[in-house]
Amino acid sequence: MKKHVRNVLLEAREKRHGLAAFTVQNAEMIKTVLKVSKELTDPVLLMLGQKPLQHLDMEVLINIARTYEDLYEIPVYLHLDHSRNLDQIQKAVNLGFDSVMYDGSHLSWEENIANTKKVVAMAQAKDVAVEAEIGKIAGVEDDVQVRENEAYLTTPEEAKEFAELTGADWLAVSIGTAHGWYRETPKLDYPRIEAIRKAGRIPLVMHGGSGLPDGAVRQAIKAGMTKINVDTELRRAFMSGVSSSLSSNQVLEDLVGHFKVGEEKLAQTVREKLKLFGTKEH
Ligand SMILES: [Zn+2]
Repeated sequence: MKKHVRNVLLEAREKRHGLAAFTVQNAEMIKTVLKVSKELTDPVLLMLGQKPLQHLDMEVLINIARTYEDLYEIPVYLHLDHSRNLDQIQKAVNLGFDSVMYDGSHLSWEENIANTKKVVAMAQAKDVAVEAEIGKIAGVEDDVQVRENEAYLTTPEEAKEFAELTGADWLAVSIGTAHGWYRETPKLDYPRIEAIRKAGRIPLVMHGGSGLPDGAVRQAIKAGMTKINVDTELRRAFMSGVSSSLSSNQVLEDLVGHFKVGEEKLAQTVREKLKLFGTKEH
């Protein structure tokens, strides 16, 4: 019996395990992430962000993921990432996503709470989990750019209050990470993570997990981050494989051949991340 994704996260929070949430953009990425998830018998969350949804229809992407769920006989948890569009969230809920993220971090505190509450009500009708975000996470996420000096760190009081007022299931907080690729090593605020975890019961989400040193990720999980989002690093791995294949195999039209090398590179990164996050002993 497939566990509800809400329980998967609550259990991971309890055990201080990191749960991998990987952003995927095409069928090859979906297949590769799920293949490695099956190989290591580790659950993962598959995240669909705004970019691939501008490119392929949501119906198509969800069907690819559900088809692999049947083929590989593993639980597949589908998550809509960084949505600011209530119609899009409603569509994802109707199509059977397991969780959705409403990102109201650009709004005022009151507006963010009001919209997040609307999303929670929409999602609850179909027992779909909701991720919300407070504070601003630096960097570029899809089309949204936040400069590092604009980002501010979440306080334990804010996190607790926001979780209680909205009824969201998970909370993305600002603790020093950034979206995209780091120009310099970020300084994560581990005591802050520990204090936010202690203040409430809500599982915490770390955005900006790409390119962080392994030790920083391990320490953040130990301090209390539960869902660890990785996006940029996976696309880099896939495209670096495609690119190296293009330069070594000169047959431009060998599309499957080039994609296969991309998949191999991606699989390697996914395997490393799952072992690092340590949902279970490998
Ligand atoms: Zn994010």
